[in-house]
Amino acid sequence: MNHPTTYKDRHVVVLGLARSGVSVAKLFHRLGAKVTVNDRKERSESPEAEQLEKLGIAVICGYHPDSLVHDGTALLVKNPGIPYSAPPVQAALAQGVEVVTEVEVASLLSKAPIIGITGSNGKTTTTTMIGELLEAVGFHPVVAGNIGTPLCEAVMDTPEDHWIVAELSSFQLKGTAEFRPRVALLLNVSETHLDYHGDMADYVASKRKLFANQRDGDTAVLNWDDPVCRSIGDGLTSRILPFSLYERLENGVCVEPPYTKETISLPNAEEESERMIVYRDGDLGSEEETCIIMPVAELGLPGRHNAANALAAIAGALAAGAPAAALAEPLRRFRGVEHRLEYVCEHGGVRFYNDSKATNPMATTMAIGSLSAPIVLVAGGLDRGSDYMELLQVFRDRLKGLVALGETRDKLAGVAQLAGLERVESVQPEEDAEKTLLLAVRKAAAMAEPGDIVLLSPACASWDMFASYEQRGSMFKKSAHTL
Ligand code: ADP
Repeated sequence: MNHPTTYKDRHVVVLGLARSGVSVAKLFHRLGAKVTVNDRKERSESPEAEQLEKLGIAVICGYHPDSLVHDGTALLVKNPGIPYSAPPVQAALAQGVEVVTEVEVASLLSKAPIIGITGSNGKTTTTTMIGELLEAVGFHPVVAGNIGTPLCEAVMDTPEDHWIVAELSSFQLKGTAEFRPRVALLLNVSETHLDYHGDMADYVASKRKLFANQRDGDTAVLNWDDPVCRSIGDGLTSRILPFSLYERLENGVCVEPPYTKETISLPNAEEESERMIVYRDGDLGSEEETCIIMPVAELGLPGRHNAANALAAIAGALAAGAPAAALAEPLRRFRGVEHRLEYVCEHGGVRFYNDSKATNPMATTMAIGSLSAPIVLVAGGLDRGSDYMELLQVFRDRLKGLVALGETRDKLAGVAQLAGLERVESVQPEEDAEKTLLLAVRKAAAMAEPGDIVLLSPACASWDMFASYEQRGSMFKKSAHTL
């Protein structure tokens, strides 16, 4: 799109009244554009409508009028979650009106350089880590994007000598054209969100957009262990800074000695304490330049996936200019983000962990592999047609029992039975979600013995029973505390 200031006196449609929609509508209004905001939700469910109208912004709620996009429409800014099949988006595309997301607008206005972080799993954790690393070295980061503050809000108040650390989803990236992060990270790519993207090619193309406008002097941080991430490096003009758990890198951030891929099994304490995270800058040319960041075992977060997130965060922080020697201390202190492999409490010698954010089988596999005691898993939720057979191996190797709930309960129980688990229970829905979850937690606690772990890591989204994964995680924690 053109620079946002060029839309003065022109008609801009903002589709979707969520927080990012409100902030982009206000921004265009301030720049003198004629803004219309439209949301299919009823007005009674859109408390933000009134404040926008007070500013003189037109707001239409409850339906999409046919006349919303017309000859004079210069731009449509779409909430990332709204599918491209929505009628106003289709109308815009048919009339040649550019369709973007709020991050495109924000990036063009940002004075501060942006670190953009995307991937199928680990975005929030890595974004938060980078924020803490940059804070620790005095870089005044502003953490924004998918993680909370809309990017449009963040860029307005951030001066050029600060950094914006932005978590970006594939939905946001699909609606970008000129977006140029100085440092761009792709953590991993697995099959997810196909209901939105249609196919993997579209999903990967959206992730690739993060790098499309990078130039000489910018940095692309790529997961060298993931073939899709690696292939995205082909043909980039930016500097590639890879990270790897499994390969010694001449130029990048890696683990030495490297892990082997065969197992995600129990970490061996002795081996772990010798395993170092190192940064090597091959361009400087000599072994002397190997810089030891810290032992993997000293990372504040458990799990190999979190070690990968830490490697990515270190690479991102180094690319932003952070000194390598200052990174170990904040990484030791980092305890993670709520609902991501979060320690809850101990009851009768059983430890409870809340990993409600694990909404696909891959995330659940990683969580199970991260914990070193026998596990009773609480899992299940919205059925999005994932292949739960992916969990067979890890169920067989690591689970003591499974308590399944939600739409996918029978599918997951079936996988657990195939894996040969003796303790498998499927929880029928009670009159409300809280009761069902409490029952599931009680059953899991009854299956567990002292020294075991009860882990909520559902492998599914929450919307079959809960308003959000946050609500599911909070109810799990409450249930565990009331045992
Ligand atoms: P996102 O923001 O991409 O959804 P989060 O940091 O919120 O990622 O983590 C979501 C879930 O994914 C967590 O429950 C965690 O168990 C799992 N996870 C985190 N990092 C990774 C990773 N690098 N690879 C695979 N799974 C991961």
